[in-house]
Amino acid sequence: MLRITSFFAAGLLALTSLSAQSACDFTIEVNDTLKFPIKEMVAESTCEAINVTITHTGKMPKTTMGHNWVLSKTQDIQAIAMDGVNAGLDNNYLKPDDTRVLAHTKIVGSGESDSISFSPGSLTPGEDYSFFCSFPGHWAVMVGKFVLK
Ligand code: ZN
Repeated sequence: MLRITSFFAAGLLALTSLSAQSACDFTIEVNDTLKFPIKEMVAESTCEAINVTITHTGKMPKTTMGHNWVLSKTQDIQAIAMDGVNAGLDNNYLKPDDTRVLAHTKIVGSGESDSISFSPGSLTPGEDYSFFCSFPGHWAVMVGKFVLK
C-alpha cells in the first residue's frame, strides 16, 4: 500500500514539473527555432541559489542560431539587446559589465550547454523581471516572464 502511494506521488510530481518549472533548478532546452520551451519561470526566494542550465539540442552553430538566457527587469530588455548587438558574439551579445543584466549564460550553439547559478538575494520579490535571448533579432520572440516568489 505504501509503495503504491509513493509511486502515485512520484507520478504527480512528474506531471507538475511538465506543466511549469518552479523552484530553484531550471533546465531550458533550445534548438534551431526562435523559441524557449517555457513562457514563465517561477523561482522561490527561499532558494539558496537559482540554477539555470541552457542546452542547445539543434544542429546549427552559435554563429547563426546561438541562444543564451539573460535575466533583467522587463523594462530593460530592449536597451540591453540593442547594446548587445554591438558587443558581438565574443561578449555573448551583451555589453561587458552591463549592470542592467542580472544574470546570464553564455551563447550556446549545437550540442553545447552552459550553467549558471545566482543568489535570489540579488533580486526583489514582486519586481517585473523577464528572461530573454540576446542573440541579434531574438529578443522580441525569445522572451518570458521570470517571477520571484
Ligand atoms: Zn536565441
